Amino acid sequence: MRILVTGGAGYVGSVSVEALLAAGHDVSVIDDLSTGHAESVADGVDVVDGPYTDAAAVAKLLEARRIEVVLHCAARSLVGESLQNPARYFVDNVAGGIALLEAMRAAGTNRIVFSSSAAVYGIPDTSPIVEDTPLRPINPYGETKRSFEGAVWWYGVAYGLRAATLRYFNVAGATERNGEVHDPETHLIPNVLAAIEGGKPLVVFGDDYPTPDGTCIRDYIHVADLADAHLLAIEATAPGDPRTEPSSERGMLVCNLGNGGGFSVRQVIDAAERVSGQAVPHEVGPRRAGDPPVLVASSARASEVLGWQPARPTLDEMVGSAWEWRRRHPDGYATA
Ligand code: UDP
Repeated sequence: MRILVTGGAGYVGSVSVEALLAAGHDVSVIDDLSTGHAESVADGVDVVDGPYTDAAAVAKLLEARRIEVVLHCAARSLVGESLQNPARYFVDNVAGGIALLEAMRAAGTNRIVFSSSAAVYGIPDTSPIVEDTPLRPINPYGETKRSFEGAVWWYGVAYGLRAATLRYFNVAGATERNGEVHDPETHLIPNVLAAIEGGKPLVVFGDDYPTPDGTCIRDYIHVADLADAHLLAIEATAPGDPRTEPSSERGMLVCNLGNGGGFSVRQVIDAAERVSGQAVPHEVGPRRAGDPPVLVASSARASEVLGWQPARPTLDEMVGSAWEWRRRHPDGYATA
């Protein structure tokens, strides 16, 4: 199939490109390289260096490459930044996303798989979180994901867009080629590994939560397992497939992607010590604002509807692959 990946030079996008190529698809990438890395895109894939938010240019690209499906991974994705600068998030993630949908409509490309986030749920009352849990995001990042989901939904109802939205929980791990590099880095696993390497000691954001060891529990999911889910979701948008049949009430399939179990911050530290054979220098600091004690997905729907199961569910596989990647790329993509 001919597939356009927006944000294909980013962490999730680049690993998805690897999986799509391995499955025999014809892949194009559009990425403005503002946070992505050109080196992360597999050899032989043409990267259009530009914004996905330029509807006229993207419509031309979709037509020229006869794109059948868009995998929309590109987004601004830092929660803290979204609180400081919500305009950037609404302009890029929502207005930019609508420009992409308009480009698709103009070009007649009517299949999309959208990278959404557990951030749409905010702090839910129930656990594990199912897809019908009310959406109450607590930061602009999550709000922009919810808004764009809404647009995709109604484009399905009104224009017959076939769509699958995947709500990622905490993405982790690396492939041989691609790993996680953000600047600034706010995520737990990269910060744990940086502390081992002699960077700043890790600060554990609170150990007085109502959890067995007092630290927060999150649902970590291997980035290569997400990529597998993307392949299955793309198949689910095929013409005639009942899973994404647009109707008067329903315009998209929504699935959580998580392990269905959680790991605490302390368990992540222990895994890092196991896989590296080194201590993680750390101290306990105050809680971080907005952190719920436990966020764990029910991935039952992804299993039932997509036939997806995480193949790399252990913390040692996730933290271990991330550690190996950093050892091979001590300067990130500068040494790719
Ligand atoms: N965390 C931490 N120290 C850090 C980064 C994160 O203790 O330097 C904790 C954070 O409070 C949360 C968990 O690790 O409980 C995962 O945080 P991350 O920012 O990786 O993802 P989030 O769940 O916020 O999307």
